[in-house]
Amino acid sequence: MRCHSCRRFSLSLICQTCRRLYLRPEPSIRTLPSGLKVISLFGYDEIEPFLLTKHHPHGWFIYRILAKEAFAALERAETLYAIAIDDDASGGYSHTALLAKALAKRGYRPLLGVMRAQNRISYSGQSREFRLANPRRFRYRGPEKIDAVLIDDIVTTGLTLQEAQGELMRHGVNVGWAIVLADVDR
Ligand SMILES: [Zn+2]
Repeated sequence: MRCHSCRRFSLSLICQTCRRLYLRPEPSIRTLPSGLKVISLFGYDEIEPFLLTKHHPHGWFIYRILAKEAFAALERAETLYAIAIDDDASGGYSHTALLAKALAKRGYRPLLGVMRAQNRISYSGQSREFRLANPRRFRYRGPEKIDAVLIDDIVTTGLTLQEAQGELMRHGVNVGWAIVLADVDR
């Protein structure tokens, strides 16, 4: 096959050279107005060509590589649940479920299918006003009174993460922080 980035022949979809060049995670923390701390591993622009594969069949393979390289930079956590945000697989696979499962290698306990949006309107390219007027309306169906972190692939305005945090708090879940691959604000 060919490397998705440099198009040279490669044994994987992102060759070792491109991994060394482009996939060097540097954890950074953004604090949202709700107080939720969001740990991102990359700036959005750094890995945009990879993130744009999300809705293609090979996106699953690319995201698995991104997760492996990104989460290697995180400390281990043995007692925290990792809650995948809106891990709906109607697009073929769920990228947030994939990320939560990848965190199991760092000791986290993935919690899948428990945080679903009742409003799945696309936020892509939409303004903050549009997003505020069209909340996700999350419903949580997981265990209560646990310690957990939220998992998403990209943070933009942070509204989705804050909405999910609010829903978890209503169920007595202690949300430690959120982990995302990329922060658009970095
Ligand atoms: Zn390459």
